Amino acid sequence: MGRFMKMQKAWEILGNSMSRALYDSKLRALRQDSEVSEDISLEEMMVEDNGEIFEMFYQCRCGDYFSIDSSEFEKMGYTLSRDECWISIETPDAFPASVVLPCGSCSLQVRLLINADAKVPIDDNLQCVS
Ligand SMILES: [Zn+2]
Repeated sequence: MGRFMKMQKAWEILGNSMSRALYDSKLRALRQDSEVSEDISLEEMMVEDNGEIFEMFYQCRCGDYFSIDSSEFEKMGYTLSRDECWISIETPDAFPASVVLPCGSCSLQVRLLINADAKVPIDDNLQCVS
C-alpha cells in the first residue's frame, strides 16, 4: 500500500534535476538512519524445502531476497524439527527472539521475529491441505 505513490513521487523528483541532489542526500541519510528497514514474522517468509536443509526467503524492495537456512538457525542455537507439513522452530532459551537478515544485493536488513515455539507451513507440499 502506498508503494506506487512513493515510486511516482520518486520519479517526479528524479525528473527534476534541480532537486535530484537533494533527493540523493535524503536517501543517503535514510540509509544511515535505518539499519533495519522492517520487522517481519516467520509466517511472512517463503519456505524452500531442500530435503536436509530448508531455506526461508523474504523479498527485498530491490528485487533480491533476505534469506536464512536451517543450518544457520542451528548454529545460533535454535532447535528445528519438521514433519510433512510444518517446520517447528524453538528459540535457544524458549523466549521470543529475533534475527537480523541482510539482503543478498543491497544494504537493507530486516528483523525476523520468532515466537518461542514457532511453526512454519511448508508451502510447496501439495499433500498438506490447510
Ligand atoms: Zn535489497
